[in-house]
Amino acid sequence: MPRQCEICHEARAVLKRPKTGQRICQACFFRVFETEVHNTITSSQLFRPGDRVGIGASGGKDSTVLAYVMKLLNERYNYGLSLFLLSVDEGISGYRDDSLETVKRNKEQYGLPLMIVSYEQLYGWSMDSIVEAVGRKNNCTFCGVFRRQALDRGALLLDLDHIVTGHNADDLAETILMNIFRGDIPRLTRCTSIATKGDGYIVRSKPFKYAYEKEIVMYAYLRRLDYFSTECTYSPNAYRGYARVFLKDLEALRPSTILDIIHTGERLQVAGDVVLPEASVCEKCGYISSNRVCKACVLLEGLERGLPKMGIGRVTAAAASAGEDEAERQSIRPRKPVEQVHFAELAERAARMRSERRACETSSCAGTGCAGPQQCAGTACTESQCTAAAQTTTHHDPLGK
Ligand SMILES: [Zn+2]
Ligand SMILES: [Zn+2]
Repeated sequence: MPRQCEICHEARAVLKRPKTGQRICQACFFRVFETEVHNTITSSQLFRPGDRVGIGASGGKDSTVLAYVMKLLNERYNYGLSLFLLSVDEGISGYRDDSLETVKRNKEQYGLPLMIVSYEQLYGWSMDSIVEAVGRKNNCTFCGVFRRQALDRGALLLDLDHIVTGHNADDLAETILMNIFRGDIPRLTRCTSIATKGDGYIVRSKPFKYAYEKEIVMYAYLRRLDYFSTECTYSPNAYRGYARVFLKDLEALRPSTILDIIHTGERLQVAGDVVLPEASVCEKCGYISSNRVCKACVLLEGLERGLPKMGIGRVTAAAASAGEDEAERQSIRPRKPVEQVHFAELAERAARMRSERRACETSSCAGTGCAGPQQCAGTACTESQCTAAAQTTTHHDPLGK
C-alpha cells in the first residue's frame, strides 16, 4: 500500500523531507516550507508595512526561490511590502551575464521591478579586468568586498528600507564553523543574527536562515522555477569548500546537524575580556568600517596604483610595492578612477526621497495619477489610488498576525 503523507494523512507521500525525514505530499511540503519562512519573518519582526524591500537577486536557486516566496507571502499575509529585485553585475563573462538573463526573466515572471548595479559602473573595474590584473588566486576577496558595498549602494539609490538575501541554513552553519575554526570572535557574534545593518543605514536580513539548501533545491524543482545553476567561473572559496564538505558529511549522518550548529552559534556568548572592534566610517567613501579606510577603498587604491596585492591578507602598501614584481606591475593597465558617491551623500538623498514618500502617505497627496508607492513621489497621488496611504492606515502592528 502506498505510504500516506505524515502531515495531512490524506494524500500519498511523494517525498522525504530533508530537514525532518518525514514522508509527505507535495502540497504539504510547499505549505511547511513557506510557513516556516513566514514564521522566521514574523518571529523576528523583520518588516514594517510600507517597507521597500530589495531582494538580492543573482539568478541562482536561493535568490530565485526567495523572490518567489517573498512575493507569495507578501500577498498571502498582507505584509504590505513593495518588493524589488536588486542585482549586482560583477562583470564575469560566461557566468554573470547569463545569470542576469535569468533575473530579467524572473522580473517578468514575478512582475517585480529590477535594478542592476555593476562593478564597472561603481568601481571602474569588472571582475574580468580584476582577474586580469590580480590573477585567479585572490580575486574572490575583491568580489566579496565589492559586492557587499554594491548592494548597499543600489539599495540607497532605490531608497529601500531593507535588503533580503538568499543565505540559507547551510551557508550560515558553514560560516559559523569557519569563524570558530579561525577564532574570529567578532564575525562569530555577528553572523548568527538574522538582521544586520550593513552600511549603518540599510537593514539586511536572511529570511532563509533556517531553510535547508536541499529543501530550497527541492522547492525550486517542484515549483518549476526558472533559475541558473552554473558555478562562478573564477576560483571558488577553498576554505568554505572544506567547511561545506565537512558539513555535508555530518548532515548525511545526522540531518539536524545544520540546525544544531546554528542554535549553538546563536547561544554562544562572548567573554567580557574580548575586545570587539569599534565601528566607525571610512574616511574616503563613508562606508562602515572598523579601520580608517574601508577594505573596498584599500583594494581599489591597490588596483589603481598597480599594487593589486595591497589589502589582501595583511599586506600593506609598502610591503605590496616592495614585494611586487616590476614586470607584473607594468602589466596592469592604469584606469581612470571612478568618481564614487560618498555614502553620506547617498544616505542623505535616500532620506530626502523617504521624507517625500512619508509626506505622501500622511497628507494623502491631493494630486492625480499615482500608481502606488513605487511611483508616488508625494506630489502626484490621490488617496484612493495610493496603496502606500492605504497600508499605513490599515496596519498598525508590525506583522503581528
Ligand atoms: Zn500532505
Ligand atoms: Zn571606503
